[in-house]
Amino acid sequence: MPNQNTNPIHIHDTLSREKRRFEPIDPANVRIYVCGPTVYDLAHIGNARPIVVFDVMVRLLRLVYGADHVTYVRNVTDIDDKINARAHERGITIRDLTNDTLNVFHSDIEALNALPPDIEPRATEYILPMQDMIQVLIDKGNAYEKDGHVLFNVPSMSEYGKLSRRKRDELIAGARVEVAPYKKDPADFVLWKPSDPAKGEPGWDSPWGYGRPGWHIECSAMSRAHLGEVFDIHGGGLDLIFPHHENEIAQSRCAHDAPTMANYWMHNGYLMAEGEKMSKSLGNFYTVNELLQEFPGEAIRLLLLKTHYRQPLDFTKDGLVEAKRELDKLYRALQVFDEASARMPEFSERAAKDNHIDEKFIDYLCNDLNTPQAIADLHMMANTAFHNDKGSDEGLILMAHELRQSGDLLGLLKMNPEDWFKWLPAGAAEGLSDDDIDAKIAARTEARKNKDFAASDTTRDELQAAGIVLEDGPSGTTWRRG
Ligand SMILES: [Zn+2]
Repeated sequence: MPNQNTNPIHIHDTLSREKRRFEPIDPANVRIYVCGPTVYDLAHIGNARPIVVFDVMVRLLRLVYGADHVTYVRNVTDIDDKINARAHERGITIRDLTNDTLNVFHSDIEALNALPPDIEPRATEYILPMQDMIQVLIDKGNAYEKDGHVLFNVPSMSEYGKLSRRKRDELIAGARVEVAPYKKDPADFVLWKPSDPAKGEPGWDSPWGYGRPGWHIECSAMSRAHLGEVFDIHGGGLDLIFPHHENEIAQSRCAHDAPTMANYWMHNGYLMAEGEKMSKSLGNFYTVNELLQEFPGEAIRLLLLKTHYRQPLDFTKDGLVEAKRELDKLYRALQVFDEASARMPEFSERAAKDNHIDEKFIDYLCNDLNTPQAIADLHMMANTAFHNDKGSDEGLILMAHELRQSGDLLGLLKMNPEDWFKWLPAGAAEGLSDDDIDAKIAARTEARKNKDFAASDTTRDELQAAGIVLEDGPSGTTWRRG
């Protein structure tokens, strides 16, 4: 059952173009499907946006309905013509290419604090369910076979185009391909196509010959396998509305004789970089992997969440510098709060077991995932560390838990503040290593003990010159890269 302390979630549903109250089919098993990566190349920052947005959505659902009452499926597309071409180019097998790419994808998005989905199905492991669904569509008269291809017949579905609100002539123009001779209607799309083993194309035996599935049928088959014929939320980027999601709906609804595929369709907006569409020739094509060499993952994540998910987002390096600075402030506040915790460890430990997230904070996220407002609220919490009368240690300790738990719902503030301030870009000029710094601090502490203040000051100056800021506190000396 939903957590009684929260107001209902409202979601903007692309299908109805309305913000609607979220009512799951079964509150004991809230089901969400998000289209995952096609694993032929490194994830770019545009790919990361839906990952981070839906990660926050899933965190919210888990908070409201209970972690064990949410099923999050995000697939991996590991059959695709771009994959075949890339594997051929690199002279490696398709399996090696997709495995390598998927491994890097996992470590990149883990650095952005994206939690793994409950289930991550790979298309190549669902060929039989796809074939079964294709056969059902043929039997029902929604699909036909021609020259080793199986096509979905668009005019057979009267409500086709409802999600993207495209008219028939737009649909045909949208197909943007020369109409293949095997198509009955120009808008028909591929469910199955022949493969040529001589060209290294992957393939499977089927009633329609040796071949491989089209992209859209993958998601219809994998979502049904794990979430059933009708589920709660289907998510992805705006660019997937047409044709991908329109086609998923056509396949699933016709195969299942269902009035809908998912009750809520959520789409995140477009992402630009440095004011323009990302492109390798403009030099604004940012892969997550490259950005992580220069910035901490949380700064990237914060920048992605500072814009509401349905708005277009202009992702810039200046924005990242600013996001890093904002996180510095939040971590400074945590340090202040943690000093209070160090003074009252037992109180802090007891308090850590309670829920400290403010209702207002949750309400912001329940309101169609209003992350900009939630982030502004984090800053308000942090301000209490620097400004007001500071209050009692108890008050500061409770604020530490509130800031951490609220941050956690956004996937932020997961580091220990000391480590945050020691973070260095991978390509940074060589300076003192963490061990060097620790050794110098130990020597300085020893000098101070022996009242050798000249030596102690010299060490401090040396460290300062190397950009290291020392802070002497009640529990010893800590340092950060300034
Ligand atoms: Zn999909």
